[in-house]
Amino acid sequence: MTEPPTGRPDLDELRRRAMANAPQREAGMVVCENLVRIYQTEGVEVQALQGLDLSVAQGEMIAVVGASGSGKSTLLGILSGQDVPTAGAAEVAGHDLLAMKRRERLGYRRATVGFVRQQTSRNLLPYLSAAENVMLPMTYTGIKRSRRRARAEELLDLLSVGHCRDRTPDTLSGGEQQRVAIAVANANEPRVLFADEPTGELDTATSDEVFAALRRANENLGVTVVVVTHDALVSEQVQRTVRIRNGRTSTEVLRRVATGEDGVEVLTAEEYAVLDAGGRLQLPGEFTERLHLRKRVRLVLESDHVGVWPDEAARRARSDAQDAESGDGSER
Ligand code: ADP
Ligand code: MG
Repeated sequence: MTEPPTGRPDLDELRRRAMANAPQREAGMVVCENLVRIYQTEGVEVQALQGLDLSVAQGEMIAVVGASGSGKSTLLGILSGQDVPTAGAAEVAGHDLLAMKRRERLGYRRATVGFVRQQTSRNLLPYLSAAENVMLPMTYTGIKRSRRRARAEELLDLLSVGHCRDRTPDTLSGGEQQRVAIAVANANEPRVLFADEPTGELDTATSDEVFAALRRANENLGVTVVVVTHDALVSEQVQRTVRIRNGRTSTEVLRRVATGEDGVEVLTAEEYAVLDAGGRLQLPGEFTERLHLRKRVRLVLESDHVGVWPDEAARRARSDAQDAESGDGSER
């Protein structure tokens, strides 16, 4: 469309330009926009997710970190179809998680996603062998009976727990149980695997094995992986770590291999603040405290960055108050 002869753009033209400048929504395996989850118990309202944005590309493996109570499990519960958000948008592998009806939800939970819990004992049925545990979810989907055992054994071998196939969970170590649980979660070839602190009950060496199994599932089966973890060693092994603060994604650390001028490859990690589709971002607490940034700040657009300045009036009021305080009792 061209501009009208007056040289002034009309409304349609302005709208078109605005659309062209709007950030392109990346097509992702997981896309959350402005996700809200409010729990209401006995009249008390808890805002577990407060407008969370997240995008995970197909085949990616990311770690989600954050303080206890920041909303990590709530997010995974929603993404895995066990819980429904209060508002916002969430899409996984093309399924709209807010619009999904019961039937679709059931199929979604059985075949589109896999889930591994922290509690080793809750991931497996105690009276079934490892192989039988892996075969069980296949009975709900179209995988042929003759194919089930072979697939279960392939998965257990891939995750280095082939030797556990005929044993029941009580005879397996915690790490072995979690690796079998990863095999169970992958039984129906899910598109996305969610793991909520899968190494939370394990020691460091065992955690490494479990994490290696998640990576192997990601690399060899092509499943997209979202893993919640407290373990810094674990989160350092993925390319992207997303931090949740107060029910929102606040920062992301991206790790890349860069080649220096001397030709030596080094792993770099850079931390970014997350900017949502509405232009909102969270300033780190240490920044806001150091400069007494509160309620209102001034933004200044520079050629290649944006400056954030304290509210001048508030700053003056504060320094006057300090002067008055230090002047107390002294004569002028
Ligand atoms: P995280 O996994 O990061 O520790 P959660 O997602 O479990 O955090 O919890 C986020 C917030 O929501 C917390 O304040 C928690 O107390 C609250 N919450 C979680 N589940 C429920 C629930 N079923 N009912 C009420 N409040 C809940
Ligand atoms: Mg949790």
